[in-house]
Amino acid sequence: MAIPITVIKNDNLLFEEIDIQEAAMILAETLNVTKFRCNDLVERGYVYNIPYYVEEDEYRFVASKEVADNRRKELEQNNHKNARRIWLVPANPNEYDLESAFSRYEILDWKRSYNYENGDILFMYVSGNIQKVRYKVEVIEGLLGTNNVKYDNAFWMDDRKFEQSKEWKYMRFRLVDEIDTTELSLKKLRERGLKGNIQGAMKLTGELRDYIMSFFKQDLTEGYYPDEVSQTLEEGKRKTVTVNVYERNPIARKRCIDYYGVQCQVCDVDFENKYGEVGKDFIHVHHIKPLHEIQQEYIVDPIQDLIPVCPNCHAMLHRQENGRYLSTEQLKERILTVTK
Ligand SMILES: [Zn+2]
Ligand SMILES: [Zn+2]
Repeated sequence: MAIPITVIKNDNLLFEEIDIQEAAMILAETLNVTKFRCNDLVERGYVYNIPYYVEEDEYRFVASKEVADNRRKELEQNNHKNARRIWLVPANPNEYDLESAFSRYEILDWKRSYNYENGDILFMYVSGNIQKVRYKVEVIEGLLGTNNVKYDNAFWMDDRKFEQSKEWKYMRFRLVDEIDTTELSLKKLRERGLKGNIQGAMKLTGELRDYIMSFFKQDLTEGYYPDEVSQTLEEGKRKTVTVNVYERNPIARKRCIDYYGVQCQVCDVDFENKYGEVGKDFIHVHHIKPLHEIQQEYIVDPIQDLIPVCPNCHAMLHRQENGRYLSTEQLKERILTVTK
């Protein structure tokens, strides 16, 4: 059956083809890779909405939702190699403090002990004293270039281990959801079919997979800030994650608020003044820098690039007027003209 595929490069239409084979062939020529490889990445791309990156360029593949849904079912029922894979991955808290790391970052670089691919789901089993599956993460870059890995020894328990970790290959994942329940203890997992100990990453299938998956229902990225996620998802997952991280990164956020205060920089509302105690310290932080100006090596400047805004003004900054976003200054002027 022919599946019409649209290929999008950096948010612009690159080409449309009548089926996946044709699309893969053209892409193979464009990217100078084998046709087989392109077939796989086009399929994973349109089925799971997984972008493909070549250096700075982002390629996306789109088919109709119905076609994508049907193919996904097919892939998963047949255990096809392009089906999104689900893994159980151990994390040793005596080596690396994953719990604290996630309290600061939603995106982490992690040892690539298997050939994880973009879109794979990992359930992180925290060993040591905890012995529970605690986190669901999604691989956003299956293999990181050595220059792109962020080495951070803040959460390593042992400097020597940290130094050793620089020899590894890395992938990048984002936190999707977390849960702390005895239902996901080692004992319970064994009752559901887990054999032996969780020494290394293992592919999850069948009942055990379905059991673990059933506990993770939400995506923490969704609904955090109004409008933002659904809107930026269309622009590319990588950017969504990146921008959300700038706005939510607890440290950048704190520096921004230390500098500006918790008053909305557009409409001046202060939640504690308005609502009392319950509003204390509440404010959103908006990332001002336009997406297309962001380079890979970009490090957020909490004072130049971030600004505290109330959720109302924040939502307005993420809406468009005649296809353009308003700046904070423009939005400020808008309020003055409306109320006068
Ligand atoms: Zn405001
Ligand atoms: Zn924002």
